[in-house]
Amino acid sequence: MLVVVVGVPGVGSTTVTTKAVEKLKEEGINYEIVNFGTVMLEIAKEKGLANDRDELRKLNPEIQKEIQRLAGKKIAELAKDKNIIVDTHSTIKTPKGYLPGLPKWVLDELVPDIIVLVEADNSEILMRRLKDDTRKRDFESTEDIGEHIFMNRAAAMTYAVLTGATVKIIKNRDNLLDKAVEEMVNVLRP
Ligand code: AMP
Ligand code: MG
Repeated sequence: MLVVVVGVPGVGSTTVTTKAVEKLKEEGINYEIVNFGTVMLEIAKEKGLANDRDELRKLNPEIQKEIQRLAGKKIAELAKDKNIIVDTHSTIKTPKGYLPGLPKWVLDELVPDIIVLVEADNSEILMRRLKDDTRKRDFESTEDIGEHIFMNRAAAMTYAVLTGATVKIIKNRDNLLDKAVEEMVNVLRP
């Protein structure tokens, strides 16, 4: 089983995923979470191209794509014999435009069964970003955030058309994290 979880920065997709995987573990259902950005950062560091994960999206798109291809290959290898959740992004907002997180040459290797979009209201996301000082998030208006969410949906659906994956939208609303986790558990439970 290969599940891809995406969401705009700050929406809490990593939190929801981690908590859902912990719950499933209690039931004896095991998933390994692989963070696409972490794998990309390892590759970028080896090549001396970036020092932290928030620098990756500022690299030349051609370089980002090359690192992305290598990361996709590496993750596909891991996904061969276990249940994997890939924590990644449907699109990456770069200075040169939206970069698809799963272009077709990545999907050729990494074929998801389910794509989960974690979403929240534009203003909720804006507030979460302001409160998070562990990351170098870009400041965006609620309108910009709404555009990114829209592009993520559009891109996710094209990935689904290319692979046959299903697309599930989970809302991670303020103070309703448990509800989002419960929904994620239901998606991941075989
Ligand atoms: P995250 O820690 O999830 O915010 O991811 C860190 C960074 O990794 C993102 O801002 C992107 O620059 C990069 N990244 C993650 N997934 C992908 C992907 N599928 N394609 C290209 N870049 C990605
Ligand atoms: Mg994340």
